[in-house]
Amino acid sequence: MSELAHASVAELGRLLADRQVSAVELAQLLLKRIDAHRDLNAFLDVRPDVTLAQARAADERRARGETGALLGVPIAHKDIFVTQEWCSTASSRILQGYMSPFDATVVASLKQAGMVCLGKLNCDEFAMGSSNENSAYGNVLNPWDKGAVPGGSSGGSSAVVAARLAPVATATDTGGSIREPAAFTGITGTKPTYGRPSRWGMIAFASSLDTAGLMTRSAEDCALVFNAMLGFDPKDSTSIDRPREDYTRSLDAGVKGLKIGVPKEFFGAGLQPDVEQAVRAALAEYEKLGAQLVDISLPNAELGIPVYYVIAPAECSSNLSRFDGVRYGHRAKDYADLTDMIKKSRSEGFGAEPKRRILIGTYVLSHGYYDAYFIKAMQVRRLIADDFQRAFAQCDVIAGPVTTSVAFGFGEKTDDPVAMYLADLYTVPGSLAGIPSMSLPCGFGAKGRPVGLQLMANHFEEAKMLGVAHAYQRASDWHKRVPAGY
Ligand code: GLN
Repeated sequence: MSELAHASVAELGRLLADRQVSAVELAQLLLKRIDAHRDLNAFLDVRPDVTLAQARAADERRARGETGALLGVPIAHKDIFVTQEWCSTASSRILQGYMSPFDATVVASLKQAGMVCLGKLNCDEFAMGSSNENSAYGNVLNPWDKGAVPGGSSGGSSAVVAARLAPVATATDTGGSIREPAAFTGITGTKPTYGRPSRWGMIAFASSLDTAGLMTRSAEDCALVFNAMLGFDPKDSTSIDRPREDYTRSLDAGVKGLKIGVPKEFFGAGLQPDVEQAVRAALAEYEKLGAQLVDISLPNAELGIPVYYVIAPAECSSNLSRFDGVRYGHRAKDYADLTDMIKKSRSEGFGAEPKRRILIGTYVLSHGYYDAYFIKAMQVRRLIADDFQRAFAQCDVIAGPVTTSVAFGFGEKTDDPVAMYLADLYTVPGSLAGIPSMSLPCGFGAKGRPVGLQLMANHFEEAKMLGVAHAYQRASDWHKRVPAGY
């Protein structure tokens, strides 16, 4: 039975279709594993009775003759997506115990496809962070090395997929929160084009950047789940009205004759030699498979971090104003009047990182500074996006490292917010441009910790990008490595 925990989404779909296993048996097995590995602190809310009811419903649908690649396949959701049957907290004290009256569209679509939810996953508070150390509910451990962070903000999502507690997990990426944790835990993490997945019911951090995506073990699994997850949603004003696609369609296209752009700015001074070596070896493998490497330049990419850390806090300062002690979550006990109640509720409810960003965001949006910071950042954002368009005239996809180093240790960067922000050096440019990008495992670096290879493609070319990733995963086995003890 335990090898079932190691089976891919694709394999599980086949086993369920052949009645070799039932959705209930699968859910029971994984709930047991989740309980046995509670020390990872990856789950914030597990409700076996609700999970098993969903599994029974999936089995009944199959018994009635329904088919579907995902019917009965388990999944877990980052606690940024609201859910009716589990608490939705964004890992913040301000939303402790909050029950949503509705499911996020992403959650609802996957439920509709018959996926069985195992529970809600720990993350950085309001998805702000790169190490999961900003959660109000404690650190998530990296299954490869319990002294290392699992990455952030989707640290719970990366840890459960790496530890084989779930075959797939939802995650969100605003500046790198899918790709960086995927790289740190040796799994495949994919962010689609901005506007392709619905943001309805995703607790907002920076609305012009927030993008739902997936943590999986392989590009193939990601394509299968994207088929059910990505589509137009009239409830989200930034959702793009395009027909649904089959994201598996390019999986077998191979990479012969494909041009892979290698941006020189992604191989600068900050890149650690162990990461560079693994990434260069992966690029060499692509050449062996028939792709051609072309040198490209993204001259404004290095401005990504300062631009992102103006825009994201500006948007968050506005989005987080809804948490006022009146409508949602925590309300202070003793207060003099309405203003005092709001002040106290927010002071008690928010952790240090959201507070820091609300302060920065309010400042850069304030009269007198708006033009100098926010407008300027928006202008440079356009330059960064234009760099990508010029690059994609020369190549089909772009490849490079995800992070400058392998996963760092707990506490290593917590006293230095800027050092923490630099963890997103290579992921933020793609976020600002709104293009699809992903991390796939390509080896191990210092202390035996995993290294990720980043792929980026132009808007709406996620199928092509997944095909390029799949070609590598057919030729390598990094994505099949399992941390010891799991
Ligand atoms: N680490 C970045 C931040 O702290 C990105 C977070 C994200 O993508 N959600 O904002």
